[in-house]
Amino acid sequence: MMTKDRVALITGSGQGLGRAIALTFAREGSKIAINDIALNEKKALETVEELRAIGVEAEAFLADVTQEGEVGAMVEQVLERFGRIDILVNNAGINRDGLIHKGDLKNWSAVLGVNLTGPFICTKAVLPSMRQNKYGRIINISSLTARMGIFGTGYYATSKSGLIGLTKVTAAENVVKGITCNALAPGYIKTDMMVKYPEEQLQALIAKIPVGRLAEPSEIAEAAVFLAADSSSYITGAVLDINGGYLI
Ligand code: NAP
Repeated sequence: MMTKDRVALITGSGQGLGRAIALTFAREGSKIAINDIALNEKKALETVEELRAIGVEAEAFLADVTQEGEVGAMVEQVLERFGRIDILVNNAGINRDGLIHKGDLKNWSAVLGVNLTGPFICTKAVLPSMRQNKYGRIINISSLTARMGIFGTGYYATSKSGLIGLTKVTAAENVVKGITCNALAPGYIKTDMMVKYPEEQLQALIAKIPVGRLAEPSEIAEAAVFLAADSSSYITGAVLDINGGYLI
């Protein structure tokens, strides 16, 4: 078991990739703190039930990652419930497409808020206890869109590029405290975020992926477990591309 007895807090994990990451960490022996926004309480609780049914210690903590007060309270509750936080996965994210020359400041702020300010707030909140414990694994879910200029992804790509900056600086500032911080840059994953695209658009996109299909959430989750393992202590500040050959 690669993350046995480690406590993992995964944001936005009531569904999609976050849920898959929670299930994969659980299989590797971790105790799981599920986070999602209050609106998704039902999905968060269902995920917790699923984990408990296989004998995993799990609890749901509702908080909006863009709200510092809510995140602070959540981190306190997780520490109270589990005693420590070993792993933080900054997974919560939203997407709004839009061309820059027609840019909408509301969408820009919403995407930057959840995808970049959220990870900053969560990272800041868990670091004091990780630094005290001289152990931590922070994994940021960036995106292929941070690696290349994809049409219409201005808000999202900017947020995910910023997240790579946050990853590298967090890594540099905390390496002496036994904390690593890395990013995953997935291509297109089979989750609600993707499958809501019109079928024709989706098929055109899949045609551009050399592997010929979307990624399964579990294929990204396995990489998160690898980066969270004790044996990955020499990997920090890295960005791992997982895109089925879309960008080589
Ligand atoms: P998803 O199915 O939409 O799941 C994201 C989860 O985060 C949802 O439960 C969402 O709630 C929640 N969330 C949104 N805003 C939040 C907030 N302020 N605080 C706490 N939770 C919040 O998306 P996904 O595809 O699993 O994406 C997971 C991560 O992978 C995201 O960071 C995404 O950018 C990244 N990613 C996805 C793909 C892809 O192809 N799917 C590719 C590369 C990277 P709501 O449903 O209510 O918004």
